Amino acid sequence: MPLFDFSKDERANIKSIKRKTLRMILEASKSQYPEEFGAFLRAEKGVIRELILLPGTILGERHAIFRLHNLPIDFTVVGTVHSHPSGECYPSDADLDLFRRYGWIHIIVCNPFDRDSWAAFDGAGNERPLRVID
Ligand code: ZN
Repeated sequence: MPLFDFSKDERANIKSIKRKTLRMILEASKSQYPEEFGAFLRAEKGVIRELILLPGTILGERHAIFRLHNLPIDFTVVGTVHSHPSGECYPSDADLDLFRRYGWIHIIVCNPFDRDSWAAFDGAGNERPLRVID
């Protein structure tokens, strides 16, 4: 009998994102361009509703936000989001490494940062559906 049943963890069962939150991600990524934007995702009852920005970790070094010692100890955090100014909406090797180590769901948004310029991935780097809800 496992000490903790991860299959019953609602963090492993994120199904949707609020339209408002997605719009905020796309707008922030656009305004940060050509730098990369990054943040953590907070969810409640299977819905991503909020971004968490960590001070001092957003600009500069590529993927700096994801240095592991900066990761929040917060049980409502379900994963990460970051932008690809290059326009490729799929994870790099460094992204896959991060996804494996942290979180349940990860969003990548890409240039030109319009309504369809994003994709969601699980911890193994497989693309997975995420419904946009109001
Ligand atoms: Zn990336």
